[in-house]
Amino acid sequence: PKDGQSPPWYPTPKGGTDKDWGKSYEKAAELVKQMTLVEKVNVTTGTGWSMQMCVGNTGPVPRLKFPSLCLQDGPLGLRFADNATAFPAGVTVGATWNKDLMYQHGQAHGKEARLKGIHVLLGPCVGPLGRMPAGGRNWEGFGTDPVLQGISAAQTIKGIQDEGVIATIKHFIANEQEHFRQAWRWGPPNAISENLDDRTLHELYAWPFADSVKAGVGSVMCSYNQVNNSYACQNSKLMNGILKDELGFQGFVQSDWLGQRSGVASALAGLDVTMPGDGLKWADGNSLWGPQLTKAVLNGSVPMERLDDMVTRVVAAWYQLGQDDPEKWPLQPPYGDGGPNFSSWTNNKTGLLHPGSTDKSTGVVNKFVNVQGEGDNFHGTLARRIAAEGTVLLKNEDNLLPLDRNGWREDEKLGKEMKYRVGIFGDDARANQKGPNACPDRACNIGTLASGWGSGAVEFPYLVTPLEAIREAFNNETVYVTDWPNNKLPSEQKELVEDQDVCIVFANADAGEGYLADNGIRGDRNDLNLQKGGDALIQQVAKGCGKGKGKTIVIIHTVGPVIMEKFISLAGVKAVLLANLPGQESGNALVDVLFGDVNPSGHLPYTIGKSEDDYGPGSKVLYYPNGIVPQQNFSEGLYIDYRYFDKQNITPRYEFGYGLSYTTFELSDLMITPHGKKFPLPDPRPSGIEPPTYSSEIPDPETALYPAGFRKLSKYIYPYIDSVKGIKKPEQAQTPVPKSPLSPAGGTQGGNPSLYTSMLTVSASITNTGSLTGDAVVQLYVSLSENYKDPETSEAVDFPVRVLRGFEKVHLNAGNGERKTVEFEVTRRDLSYWDVRRQNWVLPTEGKIDIHVCFSSRNCPLSGKW
Ligand code: BGC
Repeated sequence: PKDGQSPPWYPTPKGGTDKDWGKSYEKAAELVKQMTLVEKVNVTTGTGWSMQMCVGNTGPVPRLKFPSLCLQDGPLGLRFADNATAFPAGVTVGATWNKDLMYQHGQAHGKEARLKGIHVLLGPCVGPLGRMPAGGRNWEGFGTDPVLQGISAAQTIKGIQDEGVIATIKHFIANEQEHFRQAWRWGPPNAISENLDDRTLHELYAWPFADSVKAGVGSVMCSYNQVNNSYACQNSKLMNGILKDELGFQGFVQSDWLGQRSGVASALAGLDVTMPGDGLKWADGNSLWGPQLTKAVLNGSVPMERLDDMVTRVVAAWYQLGQDDPEKWPLQPPYGDGGPNFSSWTNNKTGLLHPGSTDKSTGVVNKFVNVQGEGDNFHGTLARRIAAEGTVLLKNEDNLLPLDRNGWREDEKLGKEMKYRVGIFGDDARANQKGPNACPDRACNIGTLASGWGSGAVEFPYLVTPLEAIREAFNNETVYVTDWPNNKLPSEQKELVEDQDVCIVFANADAGEGYLADNGIRGDRNDLNLQKGGDALIQQVAKGCGKGKGKTIVIIHTVGPVIMEKFISLAGVKAVLLANLPGQESGNALVDVLFGDVNPSGHLPYTIGKSEDDYGPGSKVLYYPNGIVPQQNFSEGLYIDYRYFDKQNITPRYEFGYGLSYTTFELSDLMITPHGKKFPLPDPRPSGIEPPTYSSEIPDPETALYPAGFRKLSKYIYPYIDSVKGIKKPEQAQTPVPKSPLSPAGGTQGGNPSLYTSMLTVSASITNTGSLTGDAVVQLYVSLSENYKDPETSEAVDFPVRVLRGFEKVHLNAGNGERKTVEFEVTRRDLSYWDVRRQNWVLPTEGKIDIHVCFSSRNCPLSGKW
């Protein structure tokens, strides 16, 4: 395809071709075969914004005991829910580089969802990938690299789905900025078109979706934006072609909330469920599907076969996750059929059952079920661990950290013990006096920052502030703690800084989803600087602390990279901790790291540049529309974040993957063991199992009319039609659309299984050479052959300097230098590039591939060749 254009891909591949889903599809087919047309349509269409308890609810089939599914955000915790955990955000989870923790986080999140009656969690998030460091929602994902995102997402999905909850990987795809993500809201009558080429799509943006599908994800959410000038939720190339054919996705695609922009076209392009059910406007009672889909099937615009597949995909996902088990999913009247035990719309016990309607029926809507776990399984403990492990130590001069709780010192002249003085500065250290949930969906930056804002934010059950936790941690017999939790430090108060031995100063940067704005930030950040005067405060504290002799520790809470040049090299700045977005246990987790109860092991999930321009022209948010359909060209292609810095040879302040520990590690003994010879292409695509077939006839339109005496609720979306006027049964079968060729890269969930076979085993030893126990993160990068030419066309193929392909976190005791071996299986996909001409992954067989075992993207003590 030409740049900026999206080719057609039809018809939609059917679900039920992967043997891992075989049983679920058999059961689903049996149920779907019994459904009438309107029953089928009901399953595909949400009942309308705020018509039921969750942010999204599908229509049920009561006759066959198929429930209304409750869909709720995700990904940080359970949105609009009480007595649930406010976990650290995705970017913090990514910064742990700890696969077990990623899984445990998913599992705890999934368990909370199940206990609240949520069938479908709207997370995890890997789109945005982070192309633009100022992108408003980057923090919901795991970091700016497809492999870090992909592994984190797969672990999270497994955790969520092991609890029987359907996970949703979102937003498919290229939802990189908030400005213009939707039509009208930002001015232009169309959403932005994110234009990217086929190779970039495969190697960057679709990569983590492939991992998610491989992990068996039950649902995918298509995004608001257009991709190559076709809306993501009606883009046949993306949904039919990439997702359902090439990646072999077996679950259902749901639209982002009002992300559907057409009725028939979206169904034919591969959309399976429309959310929240309303069409082009919120809660106006008109749907693009519902009765319209019923009509479209009756008049032949949408083949019955497509509708059967849409429903079967939903029902199969429900079986696949075991949601037919009545013990785990008890029927809960009055909302019926395994519904939720909380309401998104009120905190009161009783409330409206259909708040979006004029209907006045009420009932018990909140049962206040505490799902936070208890004792050893208290999820707050896990949240604290993730927040601590997701804290990145960027600088630690003179080994200032870890601090001593007693902070004891002696006055040399007088020979007597004196109190050690510590000052805490900055608004980001304290609580928001109005409580952590004072602003809707957390869209304000007051007090300590523990989450970004938007649908990915939750109600905090509590928020432990750094100020209270640090005060509590110091021994107040020997340490005198002063605080000035404010970003303005008037000169009359300068003793507050000058009198301290150690100053701990806090600053932050916030962002969120574009339907809310704070302080001129309309979702995407306006720059990469610390906000609310953070730089000036840090400078003032660092210079004044102990009259220039004090030691300053900088703590930063942020949604993404911040430029640190104004303070990072000041003499007083001895230590810097990047605490990301820590969730409810913020203060406790920080104290764990500050005092060394947890040895820091977080690593940067993105690059921290020295200036915004260093990220390159492709990194800029489009803030002003450049046309009636705003256009964003991803002309930088593969070169985002560290790939750009490396290619341009720009020295960042701190590179992707970087992070310090209180101990030291050494890598040695690289071994590269190939499992055979290099050959360029994967095995031929295997054929899958047969999907279910139906002999559904188009029924008589009369059967789709509202049943006699039906009590309609205003604005509620039903599948029934008002009249059969104008509906004509198609007289003959429609001319079939030419079938698009199947991708050679497909075959099973995640793509051709041959792509996932191990080509190399890489192993190395890692030793703790310091005096403290700690966790090392060993990172595997590969560089495909330099000066490579496609052997068939002799065209040069450009490769990034180095790309991440795996990581392992290793716990190593101190003492006599514990040593462990780490092993990586390097797959065919890891060593291939996407060849646009061949439409397949190709492993370069000419020249050598470099393998690097590293501590960060720029610190690779071991390298070898294959
Ligand atoms: C967001 C989605 C979210 C949905 C439902 C949309 O605004 O883009 O991520 O899942 O709302 O709350």
